[in-house]
Amino acid sequence: MNYVSKKMRDKTPYEPICGEYRVRLDANESPFPIPQNIIEKFTVWLSSNALDRYPDPSCVALRAAFAKRYGVDASRVVAGNGSDELISVIMTSLLDKGDSLAVATPEFSMYAFYAGLSENTVFFTQKDENYSLDTLLDFVKEKGARAVIFSNPCNPTGQGFEREAVLSFVKKCPALCIVDEAYMDFWDQSILDVCDKYENLIVLRTLSKAFGAAGLRLGFAVGHESLINAINVARSPYNVNSLSQELGRLVLEGDIDNGRYLSVQAQKLSIKLSELLPDAKIHPTCANFVYLEHSSSKQIYKGLLCRGVAVRYFSPDRLRITASTDEELSLLYDAITDIMKGLD
Ligand code: PMP
Repeated sequence: MNYVSKKMRDKTPYEPICGEYRVRLDANESPFPIPQNIIEKFTVWLSSNALDRYPDPSCVALRAAFAKRYGVDASRVVAGNGSDELISVIMTSLLDKGDSLAVATPEFSMYAFYAGLSENTVFFTQKDENYSLDTLLDFVKEKGARAVIFSNPCNPTGQGFEREAVLSFVKKCPALCIVDEAYMDFWDQSILDVCDKYENLIVLRTLSKAFGAAGLRLGFAVGHESLINAINVARSPYNVNSLSQELGRLVLEGDIDNGRYLSVQAQKLSIKLSELLPDAKIHPTCANFVYLEHSSSKQIYKGLLCRGVAVRYFSPDRLRITASTDEELSLLYDAITDIMKGLD
């Protein structure tokens, strides 16, 4: 007798790069920690707030801070233990077993993973040179999918769709649209402000990228009342712990604004990579990372790890490299130069 469910038997845990690397450019995190003035306020709060009670199940203060920062109605916002958790809860609460989800790859791998766990069928289409939201819309219609999900800007490709194109997609789309704006703090084409106007739209955000708060595990879903209600019913009652609620609130009310700097760094990184790797296909980016294709990607990835620099490798020939400070990027450039000399 196998006591593990059939759906889990071929699954393996998500394996991010672990270990000590002096430069971490593999997970699209911010190189900037939460500023000291915010940590000090948090420490004061912590000294007078015991953790013997459950957290606020509705995350009222945290959601209010998010709503204020992004100009949305707090009643349309739900907070999660990372947007990862919300993706999982969305699949289980807004889709029934056997419902289908459309995904154009390459995309953030957890979408298909969570859809699989909630026993949804995933229809994949491969992005090509001409990929656009029209292509995706045709695919959704052709498959009769119940839902469609994409990141904008896209992880891993960096491709961004402008606000008007996304809204036009949502209006024409017969399916539930989940638009993941995890990287929108690096760009300016968000649809967050209007997302409660569409009955078929959920927008996701996170504090893990531009805010330098990946360790807090805080994500948000914003959308129409009926969708937010269903997510609230399905999520666990105390899904966001008290520490994250308070520090997240302070982060959102503070003046952290590294998005613009890091998006400029990503453009600089792009230019420098095309000099260092003239044979590479560098994808244009609207996010805080650069995605590239190069025949020696695997060797470059391994060579970088040996030199203490972690980037993300996608088999067989792609790399995704997170933008960072000039100092960290110059260590990356030196390492790539060194590796390429050895490959000549
Ligand atoms: N969406 C996208 C597109 C991502 O790249 C990531 C993290 N890599 C997430 C969601 C999950 O973010 P969080 O840390 O909020 O769970």
